[in-house]
This record gives sequence, C-alpha cells and structure tokens, in this order.
Amino acid sequence: MKFSGNNVLVTGSSRGIGAEIAKTLAGFGLKVWVHYRSGAKEADAVKEAIETAGGKAAVIGFDVSDESAFVDAIKTIVDSDGELSYLVNNAGITNDKLALRMKIDDFMSVINANLTSTFVGCRESMKVMRKKKFGSVVNISSIIGETGNAGQTNYAASKGGVIAMTKSFAIEAATSGIRYNSVTPGFIATEMTEILSDDIKDGINSKIPMKRMGRASEVAEATAFLLSDHSSYITGETLKVNGGMNMA
Ligand code: NAP
Repeated sequence: MKFSGNNVLVTGSSRGIGAEIAKTLAGFGLKVWVHYRSGAKEADAVKEAIETAGGKAAVIGFDVSDESAFVDAIKTIVDSDGELSYLVNNAGITNDKLALRMKIDDFMSVINANLTSTFVGCRESMKVMRKKKFGSVVNISSIIGETGNAGQTNYAASKGGVIAMTKSFAIEAATSGIRYNSVTPGFIATEMTEILSDDIKDGINSKIPMKRMGRASEVAEATAFLLSDHSSYITGETLKVNGGMNMA
C-alpha cells in the first residue's frame, strides 16, 4: 500500500490489535511510535520485531485518559520527527457489568479511556496535521458501538460515541486535507476476548456468518487501507471488520 506520509502513532500498540497495526504499518515503510500504558517490555518487543524486519520504530508510554500526557506525547513526536502524518486511536478497555449494577465510576472509566482519549487524539492531531494540510486518522471503535450488548452499556456508549465523533471531526477537517475514519471490529482473538469462557466464545462464533473470530492482522489491513493514499476520497466512514456479523 502507498503512503504519502512518514510517521504514525498507534495508541495501545504494546499488544493485541494495536501491536499488529504497528507491525503492518511499519511493513509499509512508516516510522511507527509504539505506545503503551503499563506494558513497557511488550512495547519494546514490538519495536524490536519491527526493527528486525527492517522497519523504523520508537516507543512512547502514557495513559491516554490523561489529557496533558497525550498532548505532551504528540509534542514529543513532532519535536522528534517534525510532523505527525497518521494517528490510530486504538487503546481501549472494557469493564463489563449489567447496567443495574454499574456504578458511575465503572461507566466513566470506560468513557474516559475509550472516548475522551480519542477526542483528545483527534483534536491534537488536527492541530499538527493542518499545518501540513495532510493527515489521516483511524479510530478503532467496535461492532458493540453499532449494536449494543448486555453488560456493556459503558463500552457501547464509548464506541458508539467514537463513530459519531469521527464523522464530526471528518466534516470539520475535510478542507484541511485531514481524513478521519473508524473501524468497527467484530470479535477478534486477543487478550480482550481471551478472558471470555469457551461457552461464550462458542456462542459468539455460532452467530458469525464466517463462524470464527477475526485475526488482529485482518483489522490491521483494514486500518492500513483507511490511512493510506488508496482511500484518499474516503472520510467519516465506518469500516466493518466482523466476518459478516452485522448481517446475522
Ligand atoms: P488489548 O489486547 O486489551 O490491548 C489494549 C491496549 O490498549 C494495550 O496496549 C494497553 O496498554 C492499551 N491501553 C488500555 N488502556 C490504556 C490507557 N488508559 N492508556 C494507554 N494505553 C491503554 O485490546 P485489543 O483487543 O487489542 O483491542 C484494541 C482496540 O480494539 C480497543 O479499542 C478495543 O475496544 C477494540 N476492539 C477489540 C475487539 C476484540 O475483539 N478484541 C473488538 C472490537 C473492538 P498496556 O497493556 O500497556 O496497558
């Protein structure tokens, strides 16, 4: 795939989907900022894997729920590279409970980690990218943001918010040469879904037309497309990567 930009920050790329996105984008020649909150060693391992494969990477750690830390991190990247061409807002958490038992803290922790952080990333990237009139941002949402799910009112609200907010950023930035799009993965085999019991996993797989969970690499390829020059006339879009689950 062709990329006119040079570097990318992938939040939450110490493991799971983010790590796969980082490696995929490095494979296309971008310098990747591998980001972690607690997994410094894991982030170093992703950087090493990228460099061993001949790519360029750097590591940066901060909590995406901390606005000033996110602002400082973007500044660090721009001070180092002179620009930020691409951003993938991927870091995210779940904190599942039935709504009747969900405390405001349970709700807000997920909103802050998944939605408010994505807002900060989109806003700060716009400030930097508009100077070069170039940039592309992909926000990793979820099928749950489109369908809702029992036990996930907080997660559904955060991910549905990401979809709607992405469209608003896309409209505001459209004449500045910056595109904002979302990806909505279905169920993807990572640590986030590993915690589910076999019964729940079997139940999920039975509802997916392709009868399997997705691979992180499949989300990474879709994300790369939306960042790349190949999607130059696509903005505000939501790309489903779910094995047909939305039709089931
Ligand atoms: P994961 O394996 O649990 O990895 C989460 C990543 O996010 C880690 O790198 C973690 O960093 C980072 N992170 C979490 N909270 C953070 C915070 N406050 N500040 C900074 N970093 C933070 O998750 P995943 O399954 O790869 O999911 C990645 C994204 O895809 C999430 O947004 C998730 O909602 C979305 N998604 C996943 C699935 C799925 O089935 N797996 C489906 C739909 C959407 P540390 O480990 O260093 O703390």
